[in-house]
Amino acid sequence: MSSAYVFPPAPVVSIPVVGQSAGFPVHRIYCVGRNYEDHAKEMGFTGREAPFFFMKAADAVRFVGDGETGSMAYPTLTKNLHHEIELVAAIGTGGKNIAAADAHKHIYGYAVGLDMTRRDLQNEMKKQGRPWEIGKAFEQSAPIGPIVPVADAGDVEKAEIALQVNGTDRQRSNVSKLIWSIAETIEHLSAAWELQPGDLIFTGTPEGVAAVVAGDTLVGTVTGLPTLTVKIG
Ligand code: MN
Repeated sequence: MSSAYVFPPAPVVSIPVVGQSAGFPVHRIYCVGRNYEDHAKEMGFTGREAPFFFMKAADAVRFVGDGETGSMAYPTLTKNLHHEIELVAAIGTGGKNIAAADAHKHIYGYAVGLDMTRRDLQNEMKKQGRPWEIGKAFEQSAPIGPIVPVADAGDVEKAEIALQVNGTDRQRSNVSKLIWSIAETIEHLSAAWELQPGDLIFTGTPEGVAAVVAGDTLVGTVTGLPTLTVKIG
């Protein structure tokens, strides 16, 4: 077997880890839909439904260091680019059929992420019963800050989660309001896919999603984790 390729392979997507010289190599990006009650309501849904998932490709990651302002290009085709601030769980140990009671052993760390969404395109696909990728899985659609190992992250599951745009609050809630906890999410997710080290789970966004335009600066926070600042280009 040759070690050569017909063209150079894409580089491994790696996210810096706070306090480590080695990076976190990204495998897959899973996202949970409608996982805060007041966000489900604003999207036109009520009640506790079974968690559902969609994915972004690993190269949708747009890493932004702590204290930096990252740039994100305004994507093509949309006139309604929405922000979704999310707590991201980074999987360090894979597995399938993981029980919620065992789930935390599989988490390497946490980060602040944005599930950027071409809402107009997503809504059109929903209406037609078609896949969401064009609304969710485009380049740079997953800005993310450094990963903090679990031991240093504090109690992120009771942390305040917020997003400001140009200094004004858009989203502000608490991770404790997740409909499906991170452990329950891992249980459901690992029943459908075998989780691998390097998987990221965007755990869902609270209410207040809205549009941003070129020139806007987004500041996302989860108490205990590095702030994520992104300017839309
Ligand atoms: Mn989301």
